[in-house]
Amino acid sequence: MTDTLTPTGADAPSFAELGVPHYIASALERRGITHPFEIQAATIADALAGRDVCGAAPTGSGKTLAFGVPLVAMTRKARAHHPKALVLSPTRELADQITSELKTLSDRTRIAAVYGGVGYGKQIAALKSGVEVLVACPGRLEDLLESGTVRLSEVERVVIDEADRMADMGFLPAVRRILDQTTSRSQTVLFSATLDGDVAAIVREYQNDPVRHEVTIDDADTVPAEHLFWSVKREERNALLARTLTDVWPAVVFCRTRHGAERLAKQLDQAGVSTVSIHGGRSQQQRTKALADFTAGRVQAMIATDVAARGIHVDDVAVVVHYDVPEDHKAYVHRSGRTARAGRGGLVISLIEPNGHRAARRMQREVGIESQITDADSADLTEHRNAKTAPERRREQEPAPRPQRASDDSRRQRAKASGRPAGGSPDYGNRSYGGARKGAGNGDARPGARNGGGQYRKPHRKGASAGAGGSRRHPGKG
Ligand code: ADP
Ligand code: MG
Repeated sequence: MTDTLTPTGADAPSFAELGVPHYIASALERRGITHPFEIQAATIADALAGRDVCGAAPTGSGKTLAFGVPLVAMTRKARAHHPKALVLSPTRELADQITSELKTLSDRTRIAAVYGGVGYGKQIAALKSGVEVLVACPGRLEDLLESGTVRLSEVERVVIDEADRMADMGFLPAVRRILDQTTSRSQTVLFSATLDGDVAAIVREYQNDPVRHEVTIDDADTVPAEHLFWSVKREERNALLARTLTDVWPAVVFCRTRHGAERLAKQLDQAGVSTVSIHGGRSQQQRTKALADFTAGRVQAMIATDVAARGIHVDDVAVVVHYDVPEDHKAYVHRSGRTARAGRGGLVISLIEPNGHRAARRMQREVGIESQITDADSADLTEHRNAKTAPERRREQEPAPRPQRASDDSRRQRAKASGRPAGGSPDYGNRSYGGARKGAGNGDARPGARNGGGQYRKPHRKGASAGAGGSRRHPGKG
């Protein structure tokens, strides 16, 4: 995270100055979180004062703690089956991420998640013993309401996270029904990437004189993602992708269908690129494991369908690939947002079949990107290449001795040259969901290892695997 999203130096209020109780501020400090990000500085004091908050901010800007800190600070003890606070999330993965992040704030507050795709047993047991903060996806919550396992009559605070995705996924009618049951609700907080359309209607109907905070990244400081459109024959897509992802990762690759995602994951694996897949055909347990392996940097690529990837936030995704053309320009923006590495440029690659050029150009116009559709060979991916070579990753995974100074320095230089974190940098040291950062992956596998690691090449100076030469272009700026 660069200082585009953090209030600068001396004028930044501390969490304590925003009114955050000491036990939470020190819990944050233990995680290395010492200064609020902008959206947090802007909303925490108002939320602690009990006001409704309506916030818009880009992915990765710290919205979870913006609503989570006040929620945990203010929530009172709950009776069995009667949570005091409710966080609504569009996806299971996001619900899990929110739950783990909130749990780090306090061990006095009982926090549990309920969502579909897994058994009822544990969720019912948690509700029975009592939870202060319930994190829920609308579908499962409605099931549990119907069976009487949970009652919302004592819920005082509600957070709607990712309200725009909730709308896209058709959950707003359920959200309304749920809100209507929270008869003791005195505070409603809503976060969304955008605050228009259906989201605006929810704000109007359910929020009471909300404090609005819209944070945008200052354009001047922003390194926009680089958008490449590669013309490639259908049968050549996989080989091209395997060559590219060998050096540029972590990658999220989007496919249209479950079947396509599964097939591509297998083929990339065979080509030496380690993958996980995440789509509707996989069990919740498989998805959770896949996401954990990916965020820990144990694999190079996550192959996903649109719905499965909604709302997932992983830091430091180097490249998003549209393997299949997205459904529409909105989907293009959502998918590409997975590489929104705040303040640093990411890479977005679309694979365009020869008969898809017209459609691709139409989409470019709708998104507002001006990019040529080119051969993959003309691209220089040097700056996006993963700074970590296989020997470096092996060294990092050895517990002792500590890497020598010289190698630390050279790693840092390489990282600087490629625009990626060197690890140990204070800017990155306090983020909890790590991409392939130093220290993030403490498993013993390294990408490619299960294929013998043979294709895992040390990046060389001369051009990326997809082609050489030329300086970096910014066709997609703005
Ligand atoms: P958003 O919901 O806005 O997309 P998240 O809440 O998921 O973003 O936060 C992104 C990452 O930033 C998380 O890993 C989180 O732990 C980290 N983070 C949040 N606030 C801070 C802070 N004040 N200082 C350092 N890291 C933070
Ligand atoms: Mg979020």
